[in-house]
Amino acid sequence: MYQIEKSHKLDNVCYDIRGPVLKQAKRLEEDGHRVIKLNIGNTAEFNFEAPEEILVDVIHNLPTAQGYCDSKGLFSARKAVMHHYQLQGLRTTTLEDIYLGNGVSELIVMAMQALLNNGDEMLVPAPDYPLWTAAVTLSGGNPVHYECDEQAGWFPDIEDIRSKITPRTKGLVVINPNNPTGAVYSKELLLELVELARQHNLILFADEIYSKVIYDEALHVPMSTLSDDVLTLTFNGLSKAYRVCGFRSGWMLVSGPKHRAKDYIDGLDMLASMRLCANVPVQHAIQTALGGYQSINELIVPGGRLYEQRNLAWQLLNDIPGVSCVKPQGAMYLFPKLDVKKFNIKDDQQFALDLLQQEKTLVVQGTGFNWTKPDHFRIVFLPREEELREAIGRIATFLDGYRQA
Ligand code: PLP
Repeated sequence: MYQIEKSHKLDNVCYDIRGPVLKQAKRLEEDGHRVIKLNIGNTAEFNFEAPEEILVDVIHNLPTAQGYCDSKGLFSARKAVMHHYQLQGLRTTTLEDIYLGNGVSELIVMAMQALLNNGDEMLVPAPDYPLWTAAVTLSGGNPVHYECDEQAGWFPDIEDIRSKITPRTKGLVVINPNNPTGAVYSKELLLELVELARQHNLILFADEIYSKVIYDEALHVPMSTLSDDVLTLTFNGLSKAYRVCGFRSGWMLVSGPKHRAKDYIDGLDMLASMRLCANVPVQHAIQTALGGYQSINELIVPGGRLYEQRNLAWQLLNDIPGVSCVKPQGAMYLFPKLDVKKFNIKDDQQFALDLLQQEKTLVVQGTGFNWTKPDHFRIVFLPREEELREAIGRIATFLDGYRQA
């Protein structure tokens, strides 16, 4: 029978966080099973509430938010983002440098689509948040993965990056704080990355969506503040720090030598215009969010929900024989390592499917984050302590005696 096929543009595009394992989980739920889902950083699903002032703002402005707005976003919202970065030291930031989007996701795809020609290369971390690899591939580019070193607290391996730069390399993606590893990079490391970009004329793409979700002594340094001669695109938004992932609200800031990127910026403007504008009602809340009470700070300190859940989940995972995990300094994920010899794991998607089938617990396999070895998986530490204990207990039960055929 005649079959309708998807575009070849999608041939190598992968987004396994919502891939085959999730589909199987949905089937199990349809059959009446209770699946514990540790697969997606969706705070609302775990009863984290948005700051009330954000909700009030959106509701209050709803009647006047019925029309399209400027394709780069509402004046008040972009002004608030502009001030936010000016206060961080980026004094030359103007309204024109800021694009609002339906979450950072839309802007990441836009930034890649506007830049890449077929065969252009983009340096992307491994492991990565897989949207970056997918967006590069969709745009005709080649994602070139650089290693983050687990032994070094998952910091990027500078020499590995350097060795992978070619005349076709257009840019370097830096996810800090990192999803999935939870690493928060030091200023020294970031300066080295900036220097590399400077030497090789690379554009920096700084995904900083977890900039306010940091623990212990970690300090987030915005990459854009470290140079004024390296073109830097910074991505951030309301999804995580303000716990409104579903509102789809993010922004992108262009900083550095913009005069050298006029044509690229024209391309960005064109793509922003083509999708008309981002969701308008939530743009009204950006000013309040950035200027208001930062309730995220209560969650990330001792006694706070995220802080305590991180400690508990990290400890419980490390207590499982054959599992070890670097303690995350930021974000909301753990990326534990499995002893592949002990468990004989050759296919980590199968591992995730087996765990799901046996213990009704949903995790994402490490290869879903473009990590090539089948020896990691990712969980969120968003469930409350009781549920975390149950979920990690299920993982321990499953691993006890597990060996892949
Ligand atoms: N970047 C990273 C590193 C993420 O983890 C996520 C979502 O989990 C996103 C971007 C997408 O965020 P948004 O909700 O703003 O589209």
